[in-house]
Amino acid sequence: MTGQSDARFEDLLDRAARLLREASRAYAFTGAGVSTESGIPDFRSPGTGLWPNPELLALATGDAFRRDPVRFYRTFIPQWLKYREAEPNPAHRALAELEAMGKLAGVITQNIDGLHRKAGSRTVWEVHGHLRRLVCSDCRADAPFETATEALEKETLPPRCTCGGVLRPDVVLFGEAMAPDYERAFAVLRQGCDLMLVVGSSLTVYPAAFLVELARDLVIVNRDPTPYDDRAAVVLRGKAGEILPRLVAAVKAA
Ligand code: NAD
Ligand code: ZN
Repeated sequence: MTGQSDARFEDLLDRAARLLREASRAYAFTGAGVSTESGIPDFRSPGTGLWPNPELLALATGDAFRRDPVRFYRTFIPQWLKYREAEPNPAHRALAELEAMGKLAGVITQNIDGLHRKAGSRTVWEVHGHLRRLVCSDCRADAPFETATEALEKETLPPRCTCGGVLRPDVVLFGEAMAPDYERAFAVLRQGCDLMLVVGSSLTVYPAAFLVELARDLVIVNRDPTPYDDRAAVVLRGKAGEILPRLVAAVKAA
């Protein structure tokens, strides 16, 4: 399952649990891989990843949205509806439990699916935004996400604000500035971060990946190698939904 022998894996798990227990300020940093076991594909996995599709990639930019918001919404609404209907998996729940136990000070996520909050995590920074609402491109007023799905059904896309401006999803598209949560997370980490528990991120998307550089120690839980594995204190290779509940059990066992 993990590609690491059972005895060695137990040893690594214990080391990660010890680091978590001893850290006074530990945070989690998550990417698309924490949600694949909830049925949401990540961007880079061969076969199921979304981004080998260059057409989708070209459409997910701020420029493409402004040029043709109707096409943008027609393309992405079906995908977002799946994100909104998805349920948290054991990995999301384990992170919420670690926070409730006082072992994690919060979760920084690149995901827009909202699954950490759904799982009960209370302190969450969504550095690429979220799908809970739309915002007006002109006056910045917000509107319910359903304004977009209703406009799709009634063939009145793009959804519009009461001021007449085009409503856009509150997510960060390629070529755009990060969400305000990025600066907030940066400021909090600068105050001190003993440990970052990285889960399901290729750590290749910037500037989000810079945040892990603010941590003293890294524990990485990921199915595939990442560019930060060499500087991690512990790398646990495998499925987040299987590893994180075991990590919680190991933290409790001490
Ligand atoms: P990524 O697609 O670049 O990498 C995902 C990583 O997760 C890979 O390294 C893969 O090996 C690993 N992975 C996949 N399934 C796993 C599992 N079950 N357990 C452990 N590891 C697993 O993802 P990224 O680094 O988050 O960057 C992609 C960008 O795409 C992010 O900016 C993110 O905002 C966005 N995105 C978000 C969602 C979502 O909201 N759920 C989905 C797709 C992409
Ligand atoms: Zn407006």
